[in-house]
Amino acid sequence: MVAIKNSLPRRRFDVVIVGAGGSGMRASLQLARAGLSVCVLSKVFPTRSHTVAAQGGIGASLGNMSEDNWEWHFYDTIKGSDWLGDQDAIEFMCREAPNAVYELEHMGMPFDRNADGTIYQRPFGGHTANHGEKPVQRACAAADRTGHALLHTLYQQNVASKTQFFVEWMALDLIRDADGDVLGVTALEMETGDVYILEGKTTLFATGGAGRIFAATTNAFINTGDGLGMAARAGFALQDMEFWQFHPTGVAGAGVLITEGVRGEGGILRNADGERFMERYAPVYKDLAPRDFVSRSMGQEIIEGRGVGPNKDHILLDLSHIGAETIKKRLPSIREIAIRFANVDPIKEPIPVVPTIHYQMGGIPTNVHGQVVGTSKGHKDPVNGFYAVGECSCVSVHGANRLGTNSLLDLVVFGRAAGNHIIRHVKEIKEHKPLPADAADFALSRLDRLEKSSSGEYTQTVAGDIRSTMQQHAGVFRTEKLMAEGVSKIKEVAERVNHVHLKDKSKVFNTARVEALELANMIEVARATMVSAEARKESRGAHAPSEHKQRDDENWLRHTLWHSEGDRLDYKPVQLQPLTVATVPPKPRIF
Ligand SMILES: Cc1cc2nc3c(=O)[nH]c(=O)nc-3n(C[C@H](O)[C@H](O)[C@H](O)COP(=O)(O)OP(=O)(O)OC[C@H]3O[C@@H](n4cnc5c(N)ncnc54)[C@H](O)[C@@H]3O)c2cc1C
Repeated sequence: MVAIKNSLPRRRFDVVIVGAGGSGMRASLQLARAGLSVCVLSKVFPTRSHTVAAQGGIGASLGNMSEDNWEWHFYDTIKGSDWLGDQDAIEFMCREAPNAVYELEHMGMPFDRNADGTIYQRPFGGHTANHGEKPVQRACAAADRTGHALLHTLYQQNVASKTQFFVEWMALDLIRDADGDVLGVTALEMETGDVYILEGKTTLFATGGAGRIFAATTNAFINTGDGLGMAARAGFALQDMEFWQFHPTGVAGAGVLITEGVRGEGGILRNADGERFMERYAPVYKDLAPRDFVSRSMGQEIIEGRGVGPNKDHILLDLSHIGAETIKKRLPSIREIAIRFANVDPIKEPIPVVPTIHYQMGGIPTNVHGQVVGTSKGHKDPVNGFYAVGECSCVSVHGANRLGTNSLLDLVVFGRAAGNHIIRHVKEIKEHKPLPADAADFALSRLDRLEKSSSGEYTQTVAGDIRSTMQQHAGVFRTEKLMAEGVSKIKEVAERVNHVHLKDKSKVFNTARVEALELANMIEVARATMVSAEARKESRGAHAPSEHKQRDDENWLRHTLWHSEGDRLDYKPVQLQPLTVATVPPKPRIF
């Protein structure tokens, strides 16, 4: 039989990057500046990637407005992670943070300024001075549009450095050879419906999060976990997928995010009695306790009948006392969102908010160079030719709960580190490895099934059932029964994914085909989440089943690894040894 790949157009690059968010574009910039040929694929125009929506800030211990140092940041991140974060990676990130931010500044990123010209920094949840003594101002901000400023800066620099963008291209599947090495991806050009093979000496995934597997989410429509789906189908494990962050303040009913920066600027959460209830749960950190803790406290208020509104189902975020001037200067987009989505002007009235899915702590396991690591040889052996950075990866700096502002930091620190590592690696490789004869078969067979479908369910009916199952069975409050039911429900939905019907078979800009392909990725992430969550019998960070109220370090201080084939789980130890400093040993997490 003639190999299918021969009939497909092929393009060759030193590096193929899937994803043009902050992490993908930080990596591509490093590579393009070093003179490598780099292509960056994105389902949307680069500056519409979800990074553009980041509001509050990027964390770095610059100490511009209050005393600070990287070791305090390191301590806060470990404690925030509920000790599931790897301390070598956390040290790497917190040490690099000031340089990473100054680099952005020198590229022209328009940060807000203090009177002395330094970068403006605001307080943020879980970020403290001297190991929890008092809040510290560590979040470097460009008003409440930090991600917008960051992404546009990186895009401009990439254009200047001649990075090649493949806009509105969707990667379909990884290409691996018999040695297990990664040789590139198959991809769909949305404009024409044509499929290509993109070969790279190295392939880097920067595909972002998968918040769209939940019904109530702050995430963009494109956040369907494509990188995770492709990795899982190609036989790679997904790490710590039970840990999903609920952001305390999504606009009730709409999901749109109200940044933690609002509480950083002095905003207060109040229950139906007008009480500032966080004082009871977290006497020191109050409204600026980490997100898992604040979300659960809000949930507790609602369960105990102190929720607001006719259904007592939300909480109020009051910032009226901050003053019109600060709101207009520091939080202009928040005011606009509140007026548009909640019909309140926060200068005068509080904003109705509720915990909403925001961020996945888990992802494709990597080391600090961004290399994807396999599950053999103590889970440390890097996969040849495969890197992952940003929200789709799990390095793991966020552990069981991410601190606000540490994601934007993660993107630029590890995007740059991966870029540097690839530069060294690619220089040693003279030629591309030959493609296997069946390089594109898997992706083409998946497309073919959709092409030949003549009956079956609509994609969005099945996607809706994924979202409602996840919302109900993997939410803020988890019980063993809910999660066990969730596992069987999601497996039933997974069966249905294989039989969806693509009614519109047209080629040009067929968004129905794209959505059907996204569905296949969403279900991998949903299964990974449900199965990993059901298995973990303790409360840690964002995962808190009511039967297991305590953290159990003896049995569960370890990372989960989920394999798509047979929903198999295995585990690996947490790296408690930092690179140069002493470990921060596990202790109770109080605020
Ligand atoms: C509303 C909101 C506010 C936030 N605020 C903050 C904040 O203030 N501070 C902070 O630290 N963090 C914040 N976060 C988190 C942070 O913004 C994200 O974790 C981060 O931006 C993700 O960046 P990324 O580079 O990993 O991916 P993204 O920016 O999500 O980009 C993913 C890219 O992958 C592409 N892609 C995906 N699948 C495919 C495919 N199959 N083929 C081709 N391309 C593909 C997309 O087109 C896109 O270009 C916020 C998140 C949200 C949702």
